[in-house]
Amino acid sequence: MTEYIVEPKSRLQLRELARMLRRYLKLENEKYFPITELLDVLAEVFDNFSYEVVEDSELPIGTHADTDVRTGHIRIKESVYDGACDGVGRDRMTIAHELGHFFTLCFCGFKLERNFSRREVEVFRDPEWQAKCFAGELLVAEHLMKGCSIEEIVSECGVSYDAARCQYKHINR
Ligand SMILES: [Zn+2]
Repeated sequence: MTEYIVEPKSRLQLRELARMLRRYLKLENEKYFPITELLDVLAEVFDNFSYEVVEDSELPIGTHADTDVRTGHIRIKESVYDGACDGVGRDRMTIAHELGHFFTLCFCGFKLERNFSRREVEVFRDPEWQAKCFAGELLVAEHLMKGCSIEEIVSECGVSYDAARCQYKHINR
């Protein structure tokens, strides 16, 4: 169950947010987004961002990383961080996903309110959807990868086959 609801953001808005970030970092034409390096850049640039690589046992099984949206602090399991540094697609996507939480909730200050009524929320208002969408758009840039095959997306963007297939559908529709 979703605990929070946020301002609705469409895929196109999140794509534009990811592209603004790439532009700001002068990485607009990089097919392989340097996601672990971004952590260090953000820690330097933003006072309200920090991250920490923790022992795997510090986070529950099934949780690869988490973000405290009040403090902008991200914790990443050591195995996930190491995997991302080694180019493992799933681990790279995990970090991009947490950064999605930071950018959509902390940095952009999208309205966050407790979903007291516990009703099902529309997909656009779900922070998990927003983070997932942002992560896909950041690692697989539409303006660079449109028209490329799923296999090309896997090898050039450093994402898993499943993520590539999913993003392939979104950028070629
Ligand atoms: Zn999440």
